Amino acid sequence: MFESSFAMAYCVFVVALLGLCMGSFLNCLAWRMAHGESVTKGRSHCVSCGHELAAKDLVPVFSWLLLRGKCRYCGTRVSARYPLVEALCACVFVSLFLRYGLTLTTVELIAFSCALLVLSLTDLDIYVIPNSTIVAAIVIRLAYIGIGGALGMHDALALLVESLVGAFVVAVPVLLLSLVMDHVLGRPSLGGGDVKLLFVAGLYFGWQQSLFLIILACVLGIVLAAVGKRATNAGEDPETGEIAQTEVDADASEVVEDAQSRLIPFGPAIALSCWVTMLVGPQVVSWYLSLVHL
Ligand SMILES: [Zn+2]
Repeated sequence: MFESSFAMAYCVFVVALLGLCMGSFLNCLAWRMAHGESVTKGRSHCVSCGHELAAKDLVPVFSWLLLRGKCRYCGTRVSARYPLVEALCACVFVSLFLRYGLTLTTVELIAFSCALLVLSLTDLDIYVIPNSTIVAAIVIRLAYIGIGGALGMHDALALLVESLVGAFVVAVPVLLLSLVMDHVLGRPSLGGGDVKLLFVAGLYFGWQQSLFLIILACVLGIVLAAVGKRATNAGEDPETGEIAQTEVDADASEVVEDAQSRLIPFGPAIALSCWVTMLVGPQVVSWYLSLVHL
């Protein structure tokens, strides 16, 4: 596919760079969505002192490293989450590029990953999966189906039907199960956002891969909950504590309090499982089917 390993290395470098910059942008986008700030207006500023950030403060990962994780203007610690998210975004971009090459699928899955990253961050911060991210993910999938159909890559109608069947086969049982669990536990079990996100997963991956995705998400959710609980017990300031202070309105802290009893951060767990499924989903399904047919 590539003329030389040099060309390949160059492409990976460019994709990684794009991933870093997109990660920086999505960090900012998610923060603004979680804090009710305008997404389009205003320049990036320090969360603590409000100083506008210059270009040299906004270089992904490197600015944070050079400033040793502190604001240049007020010296307040800047969470390591920002460079980590930027690096993660670069990893996601590169892994999808290596898996699918220069194809429409890569573009689709990278765009989907961006929506997943934003909703993971808002879910971690305010326990909300914004509807706008769900809508964006659906629009991306429909655009892929339409454009791919127009280019003759697939039968658009057949793929649309297949995707919708996948979405409903996954989402309807999950919705019913969560309603039953709500009733049994007497409190919300799965968030409505989680069910919508699983609907989207079904739309992208079909029901077979989604089964694997849900099992993986449950395991990851429990692991993330254990890690989060440990961090909280160790006296570290969880991101949510910060928000409860800055966000003065009672609504937000109520949401946080209600959600803390929920414990399992399912949004990020589902998002991570989506990434794994993008990379190895079909292989896992055919491996599983080969076991069944033995
Ligand atoms: Zn500052």
